[in-house]
Amino acid sequence: MAQEKKTSLPWSEAFRRTRRVMGIWWRICPNWFWATGLYDALTALAPYVAVWFSARLIGELSGGRNPETLGLLALGALLSGALLTLAMGAAKRWRDYENQMSRLAYKRLHQDKMLDMDFVTMDRQETADLYSQILQNVNWSGKGLLEPLVSLEKLMTALVRILGGVGLSVTLFLSSVPEESGMTWLNHPLCVLGVLAVLLLGAVTAPALYNRGDAYWVKYAQSILYANRAFSFYGYTVSTQRGRAEDARMYRQREQVSDPLLEQTGEFGPHSLIARWARGPMGACFAASQSVSAVLTGLVYGFVCLKSWAGAFGVGSIVQYVGAITNLFLGLSELLEGLGELRVNAEDAFLGTEFRFLDLPHEMYRGSLTTEKRADRQYQVEFRDVSFRYPGTERYALRHVSMTFRVGRRLAVVGQNGSGKTTFIKLLCRLYDPTEGEILLNGIDIRKYRYEDYIALFSVVFQDFQLFALPLGQNVAGAASYDRERARRALKDAGFDRRLETMPQGLDTYLFKDLDKDGVEVSGGEAQKIAIARALYKDAPFIVLDEPTAALDPMAEAEIYSKFNDIAGDKTAVYISHRLSSCKFCDQIAVFQDGAVVQTGTHEELLAEEDGHYYRLWNAQAQYYVNNKTKGDRQERL
Ligand code: ADP
Repeated sequence: MAQEKKTSLPWSEAFRRTRRVMGIWWRICPNWFWATGLYDALTALAPYVAVWFSARLIGELSGGRNPETLGLLALGALLSGALLTLAMGAAKRWRDYENQMSRLAYKRLHQDKMLDMDFVTMDRQETADLYSQILQNVNWSGKGLLEPLVSLEKLMTALVRILGGVGLSVTLFLSSVPEESGMTWLNHPLCVLGVLAVLLLGAVTAPALYNRGDAYWVKYAQSILYANRAFSFYGYTVSTQRGRAEDARMYRQREQVSDPLLEQTGEFGPHSLIARWARGPMGACFAASQSVSAVLTGLVYGFVCLKSWAGAFGVGSIVQYVGAITNLFLGLSELLEGLGELRVNAEDAFLGTEFRFLDLPHEMYRGSLTTEKRADRQYQVEFRDVSFRYPGTERYALRHVSMTFRVGRRLAVVGQNGSGKTTFIKLLCRLYDPTEGEILLNGIDIRKYRYEDYIALFSVVFQDFQLFALPLGQNVAGAASYDRERARRALKDAGFDRRLETMPQGLDTYLFKDLDKDGVEVSGGEAQKIAIARALYKDAPFIVLDEPTAALDPMAEAEIYSKFNDIAGDKTAVYISHRLSSCKFCDQIAVFQDGAVVQTGTHEELLAEEDGHYYRLWNAQAQYYVNNKTKGDRQERL
């Protein structure tokens, strides 16, 4: 439950944060400023031009009634109106386009940060929470990095309005009521000051009340966090994402999980905190703000009409003065509202969260040594007494692992689920740094190499690899323009050649239907082959397969692995599998158990150790496959 607390951010800090935001926008989307500035200037100017011409026209109609002047004024009003509308239309298009661009630039900013941060930082729950809070703020109240753009626009319009309003209303206060009207008190400086004071007071009170109402969002941001996350996950992701559709139906996740959950949080119903605030203090603030504005407009009308009635100016000027003052008043309100919004937006809950995300530091040391592109591919990696704990956990996922990857050899890493195989690979690819011990590349600690250089040495097919809804060839090459022959060869080596022949557009066939209605849906096994082809195309000195063949049957898996042995050529290859039979052909097998390497050797050597872990695993699996095979045979006979 949110605590009622007053906004406490000092103005100076709010401005400092907002200035930083503007700096970011100026860097990532400079044209937005020009487009919006032009559009706002024109929009703010237009009413004054209309008001000015209308006033002159009415004045002339009620006074001189000179046809020539009237004609000129009418023409001026028409032409200026037409030109301004045209210019505004063009400027609006440009502004709308830049607004879209700013949304894209905003997404890119986050994506770039995500990709640039250390994997270990990205993998943390706190980082995921931070990012999801940013998205929720944007969806829920629009607050964060985007809102200052909206507020700035408001401020720009407000300033032009104020300047125009002052310019067109000065004479209202300067023009005197004639003696004979008997209302000369209207000329008295105190009367003028009094009216000005009331107007100013109203102009300050209305936005202040508005801002007070707006500040309830800050108080609510924390309270809604959980409900929003649950809503977007169960209300959107679960029910609309294709990969989740089966589970969502079979387990009736919406009725059984999401509806009760949302009911339980109660944040979207009529009894939620924000709904109660809206009916109570928050709504009252907004309503009071509107009322003050309405009362003030009435006052302005009263004052202007009274002065005109007393003979200070003609009827025509009433339009001008009322228009000018209403706009001036609106401008002042918008100025204060905009400033208030900026302050609320700069709070820790909004801009503070954005900055915490953007300022996440690089924790991993990144050296500057280059790996030199060695033609002989003589890259040798050694794990020296490496232990590792995932951040925030007490248990060691790896314990005292020492191992050398001999150049050009095939290493199999086997072990039961949770024994540390994937963790081992993540350390090898420097997604994490060891907690203890070190990893060396050609005798030098891998931290001393340039990060990009080091990871470029690896082609990895992870368990949860992802393909894009792009043409097959681009998926394989990981680029829009690529060597088609090389892509074809990689697909052939990965065992995809026969399927490639059936693809309607060959390498140009889109995978999935997201971007092309003729796109092809590939099966899990086919997707894995494409992922393997991608690793082959990269042609890095190390090739790592982390159980990428889970969707294949044991025979197909064994086939891929043994074939891979030939394809891998002079590369150093690492295979991870819990199916021991798939890795029989490797030069060396490392057996993992509870984060430690408990045995190493060839398949034959390891089988010879009858009290070893490998022997036990092998027998357990052999039994399983024999049983399954018998079952299969029996079914075939039936
Ligand atoms: P394997 O690949 O052999 O199945 P892993 O290397 O994935 O095993 O996991 C080893 C251990 O590390 C397991 O106990 C697992 O729960 C833990 N672990 C894996 N990933 C994380 C993570 N991101 N955060 C915390 N613990 C993890």
